[in-house]
Amino acid sequence: MEKVTVLGAGLAGSECAWQLAKRNIPVRLVEMKPGKKSPAHVSDGFAELVCSNSLRSDELSNAVGLLKAEMRAMGSLIMESADRNRVAAGGALAVDREGFSKYITEKLETCPQVEIVRAEATEIPSGTVVIATGPLSSDAIAEKIAALCPESDLHFYDAVAPIVTIESVDMDSAFFASRYDKGTADYVNCPMDKEEYLAFVSELANAKEAAVHGFDDGAVFEGCMPVEVMARRGVDTLRYGPLKPVGLVDPRTGKNNYAVVQLRRDNAEGTIYNLVGFQTHLTWGEQKRVFSMIPALRNAEFVRYGVMHRNTYLNSPRLLDRYYRLIGNERISFAGQMTGVEGYVESAASGMLVGIETAARVLGLPAADFPQETAIGALALYISGGSVGDFQPMNINFGIISPLGYRVKGKRNKNAEISQRSLAIIEEIKKKEIMQL
Ligand SMILES: Cc1cc2nc3c(=O)[nH]c(=O)nc-3n(C[C@H](O)[C@H](O)[C@H](O)COP(=O)(O)OP(=O)(O)OC[C@H]3O[C@@H](n4cnc5c(N)ncnc54)[C@H](O)[C@@H]3O)c2cc1C
Repeated sequence: MEKVTVLGAGLAGSECAWQLAKRNIPVRLVEMKPGKKSPAHVSDGFAELVCSNSLRSDELSNAVGLLKAEMRAMGSLIMESADRNRVAAGGALAVDREGFSKYITEKLETCPQVEIVRAEATEIPSGTVVIATGPLSSDAIAEKIAALCPESDLHFYDAVAPIVTIESVDMDSAFFASRYDKGTADYVNCPMDKEEYLAFVSELANAKEAAVHGFDDGAVFEGCMPVEVMARRGVDTLRYGPLKPVGLVDPRTGKNNYAVVQLRRDNAEGTIYNLVGFQTHLTWGEQKRVFSMIPALRNAEFVRYGVMHRNTYLNSPRLLDRYYRLIGNERISFAGQMTGVEGYVESAASGMLVGIETAARVLGLPAADFPQETAIGALALYISGGSVGDFQPMNINFGIISPLGYRVKGKRNKNAEISQRSLAIIEEIKKKEIMQL
């Protein structure tokens, strides 16, 4: 049987290799550690958690809790190790990072189907291959990946603006319009009067920034200036930049406002919106505090916060299909953060889906299709085309999962019901032949 090559034994590559091996498919797992390490990796083990030791919420009223539950239900190695190496952390799933990585490393090293190659991949091998070399992929492989993509479809930095759910925006303080009424009224405009704007700029200029990692590169700031830096440049800089009020007549007053924050639709369903031009390096707590000063966002639910750091990722909506395969060259799949999923659990989940799909392909079995009602499916569908506008990396959140289609009182109840629906679908998918292996 054909051997599948998996490049990178991080969160995604380890899970992917496991899903293949447990279906009796021979795997060559190529990992550059310990010979070469990215600036963030320090250990020799697989599935190294480079920063926090938390895999976030473990509750079904939280989307990442649902994603974990789905993965557990389908026999995830990452989840098995996380559960065995759990440390007390309230409603979150935090792990002993060394024990977590050791368990996964040993499982893969002792698995007869897995050949481990401890070397840097500098070429994309022939045959069926999964590329999971992560956000800090080595330069040599990044160059080869870039050659697979049309120009500018491989990004090296994240400069992500926060995203909010539309249902949490106070529409009494906002209005739909496009600047100068061009096209359809697609933007949600969040106005501020002079007093509100000055208070906002003052807090923004003095807000706390996130710790700068050693591998961060000032170059990111040249092309994409954070809002807090703009606020420090001068009190009116933002009013002449992303908060420009011109061409946005407020239908409630018939006049222009002093400043306007624009929200742009972020998914095809129109359930989540990003803050236009709000790339930021502030801590998440500060983003919540300061951005909630925008009147329409006073109760906003942030489904993801802005981040700026080095991150190698693809313009996936243009490049990948729902199985994270390269369109037009389907022998090559991608998994993990480099597809534009964001987070340890999301990376592992994409590795799981790719492992299952690749196994089905090698064995000549029908693929297991995960629909948008499931977290693992919603993520893949968002990444491969569900987003609109400039593609930015994404965490799992309920905004990208299909809504219930009926009202349930209370957000927690509603989310819990979405989770129950998803887990029931996963149980049905588990009856498919590829899932029985
Ligand atoms: C600094 C930093 C901090 C982060 N903190 C968090 C956090 O706290 N919480 C969270 O949920 N997410 C965090 N993330 C985001 C993301 O979830 C993790 O980066 C996650 O590890 C991504 O999984 P992955 O499998 O895609 O990549 P990785 O886990 O990084 O795995 C990639 C593997 O490929 C190897 N590799 C790279 N190039 C080659 C090559 N050419 N040949 C062979 N092997 C190669 C690497 O050594 C590594 O083992 C962080 C990301 C970064 C960069």
